[in-house]
Formats: sequence, structure tokens, C-alpha cells
Amino acid sequence: MSNRRDFLRNVSFLTAGGLLAGNVGSLHASTTTSSQAAAAKTIGLQTYSLGQELFKDVPGGMKKLKDMGYTNLELAGYSKEGKIGPVEMMEFKKMAEDAGLKITSSHVNPAVREFSKETFNDIKEFWKVAAEHHAKLGVKYLIQPMMPKCESHADAAFLCEVFNASGAIVKEAGIPWGYHNHNMEFKRVVKPEDAAKPGNPWMPKGDQIYDLFLKDTDPSLVFFEMDVYWTVMGQNDPVEYMRKHPDRIKVLHIKDRAIFGQSGMMNFEMIFKQAYANGIKDYFVELEGLKDGMSQFDGVKGCVDYLLNAPFVK
Ligand code: MG
Repeated sequence: MSNRRDFLRNVSFLTAGGLLAGNVGSLHASTTTSSQAAAAKTIGLQTYSLGQELFKDVPGGMKKLKDMGYTNLELAGYSKEGKIGPVEMMEFKKMAEDAGLKITSSHVNPAVREFSKETFNDIKEFWKVAAEHHAKLGVKYLIQPMMPKCESHADAAFLCEVFNASGAIVKEAGIPWGYHNHNMEFKRVVKPEDAAKPGNPWMPKGDQIYDLFLKDTDPSLVFFEMDVYWTVMGQNDPVEYMRKHPDRIKVLHIKDRAIFGQSGMMNFEMIFKQAYANGIKDYFVELEGLKDGMSQFDGVKGCVDYLLNAPFVK
């Protein structure tokens, strides 16, 4: 009996050893597969992530990004003079393309002090120029990244009117116009007539601005680039939003508190699973919040390494 027990123990030990060896083998195999797959992964970067480090040496920076595994860029820092930071747009495009990177998107904020009836025309004029510049650049998307002041239903309704008009202008240049969120879009606004009503004490009152934007913008003119981190920071679930609005949320910002996977607060596996189910093609890495004097380039390398090694990122 004891022999049999020893025998079983040995067999199970061997099996465990065998499995362990198998695991090591398969881990090794999956590493190989993931690095092969890595070559095929399409990973975008929002260049804002690099801060001013980017402009110290743009061609050198582009090459570094390509070597890390990035394939696409979403620009930040457009000005209506046709520059990205201090660099002329078409020069920037050449530097990116020389390094093998494709510019697919650009974040652009209309250069007006505030959004109002008085500045509506300036906003439209701004988008005409921005659309023309970006059509030359050949981007797939043009995106407004910042929410103007919005403190009421009336403000939200006006912004939707501006967004629709912006979308219509940019669409004429052949580019879809999108809106990118932070967490303030999940702030609630209450209709004046509802303010005095008792309501449900367990439920927050009013409507989230983001929901008003989704409801009152024209799907043929405005799409949404959801920043998954800021949605979580706004106490909402990006996966639920993607499930509910597959026809509106077309692009993602993949972001964490700092380098991906370290905060434990982002369920990237679920986010990517839903993104693929929705047919989302483009996403951009965004990095903020680095500490300990780490360079932005090292930070974005940490982010791309996470995605290259993640089996759930295709
Ligand atoms: Mg973002």
C-alpha cells in the first residue's frame, strides 16, 4: 500500500514536473508567439504622452517609438498656423513616415477663449482651417479633446449644437470628427424644474453630461473616442458604455494612472475584449502621471511592452 502511495506520489510528482516542464515550454512558446504577433500588433500613441521631450529631437524620437513597437500616432499640439508644437505639420508627417509611423489622428482644440454664441463663428472658421490642414496630413480622425464649460442642460445642448456644426465642417473635408472625454463629462447636471423634486435618495440626481452628448449629437457627424481611464475616474464603466454605444464609440484612449497594469484599477482584458467585439480598429496609448524622474520615452515603452506582452491584445 505504502509502495502504491509512493508510486502515486512519484507519478503525480513526475506529472507535476512534466506539466511544469510543459508550462515552461508553452510559456516559452507563447513568448515567441507574442513577439511574432507583436510585429503585427497595431498600437497607436497619443504624442501628448511625450510632453516636451518629443520636440528635443523629433526624427530620433519617431525612430525610438517605431523600435518600441508603436505603429501609429495621434498628434497633439496643432496650431492654426499649421504646426505641431514648433514643427511644420508636413515636416512632422515626413519625420513620422521616414521612421515607419503613420499619423492616423490629431487632437485639436478650437483657439477661442470660451464656447459661446459670440464665438460660434470663430469656432466654425477654426475648424475649416484645421480640416484643410489635416486633410493634407491624411488623418483618419480629427478629435476635440477638451470639454468647454458645461454646467447645465442648456450648456450641454449648446455644445452639442457646436459639436454637430464642427462635425459637419470637418466631414466636408472627408474626415470624421470625434470627441474625447476626461472625467468631468460624467458630472451631472440637473434641469431647473427637477432641482426641487425629492427624487430617490440612493440615486444621484440629474444627467451625466456624457449621456447628453451621446443623445444630442448627430451620429452621422460626431463619434466618440472614449478615454477608458477618465471614464473609470468619472465612476463609470467603459465596457458598459462600449456595449451600449457600439455605433458611437469608435476609437479608444488606453490609459492607466501611469504605466499600464501597475495601478490595478484598469481591467484592460475586458476593455480589449469588448473593443474587438465592437469592431474598434484604432486606439491610442496615453501616458500621464509618471513619478521618480522617469523619462516620458521610458514611460511609453513601459506601456507598449505591457500591450505587446498582453495575450488579450491582438
Ligand atoms: Mg485621453
